[in-house]
Amino acid sequence: MPMDAILATVAHVNTGEVRYAPADGIPALKQAVIRYTEEFYDRKVNPENIIASGGAKQAIMVALQAILNPQEEVIYPAPYWVSYPDMARLIGAIGVPALPEDGTFYPRIKDITDRVGSYTKAVIINSPNNPTGAMYSEEFISDVVEYCEKKDLWLIMDDIYHRLIFDGRKTINCYKYAKRLDENSKIILINGVSKQYAMTGFRIGWAVGNKKVIEAMSNIQGHQTSGPSVLLQKAAVAAINGIQSGVESLRVTLENNRNVMVDLLHSFEGVKVTKPDGTFYCFADFSVYEKDSNKLSEFLIDKVQVLTVPGKEFGLDGYLRLSYCGTIKDIQEGIERMKWALDLNSPNELYIGDRKLVRDWS
Ligand code: PLP
Repeated sequence: MPMDAILATVAHVNTGEVRYAPADGIPALKQAVIRYTEEFYDRKVNPENIIASGGAKQAIMVALQAILNPQEEVIYPAPYWVSYPDMARLIGAIGVPALPEDGTFYPRIKDITDRVGSYTKAVIINSPNNPTGAMYSEEFISDVVEYCEKKDLWLIMDDIYHRLIFDGRKTINCYKYAKRLDENSKIILINGVSKQYAMTGFRIGWAVGNKKVIEAMSNIQGHQTSGPSVLLQKAAVAAINGIQSGVESLRVTLENNRNVMVDLLHSFEGVKVTKPDGTFYCFADFSVYEKDSNKLSEFLIDKVQVLTVPGKEFGLDGYLRLSYCGTIKDIQEGIERMKWALDLNSPNELYIGDRKLVRDWS
């Protein structure tokens, strides 16, 4: 977490000026987001094009509330972030997952267009993706942008992991492919401080969109939670405008952790791994051991205290999402315990600290 953010929060709390903030964010955060959008997306926007929310999560939720009516549909590639289907459900709308037909984690435009019908109102693209770590191709992003413009669909770009990418990849700028760059743009760009600055608990995210949709989102947010706490917005301003070396060191650490995890996973016979292009997740196919990912995930936490998230939650059973944002030691230990629990050829005993575990299952 950036020291700049901590100092800014403390400095502000000492002023005692902790009152209601505007529903759509304080001017200083809007200015920081304007600069950020120019730097990473080469796009000049105005304060009226920005809303600061309680995390990217709230920004996405109020965006969906602003654009979807009950019964209308929003399409997103699968595997998808767990919250999208429930967010749609909360509005009475319908989430439509699009699992790539070719069996990869990389959708093609046809995977989306095949699911578009008269109720379709929006598409959500999350790249790099939670849970797979897949960063979609420039070709796919340009196809989606063009298609949504042609069909007059909203396009929510969940770019929350856009700076945490590996192997020399460059951030993809969705606006590069947009023809409508004025107030008729239907792209809603989502970002936040949780991942890139490791500030998950500060709960600051934002959306960039046309004035009208931002106004609608601000009205909704104003009646939900009001604007995010000014203290936390000050912290986000300091992180965005402060020294950025922490983002690069986080990125390098994650890339290294990814390499370690993928290598270790290759030692599991029958487990299929796709090397993540970014994020801090690896989504591996463990169906060779157990097809029901809920069962497998419960088994691992119960027997060896390794926390995984079942693939079913992300729309693909048989898989587990593993996180590599801990230390190398955590990753090695976690995989070693999984291997012991699952590979019945491994020795019958395992030590967790001083505790000796004896396998009593087969
Ligand atoms: N979008 C995706 C794809 C995520 O993985 C997450 C967090 O896990 C979020 C949005 C929400 O982030 P925030 O902490 O800013 O609400």
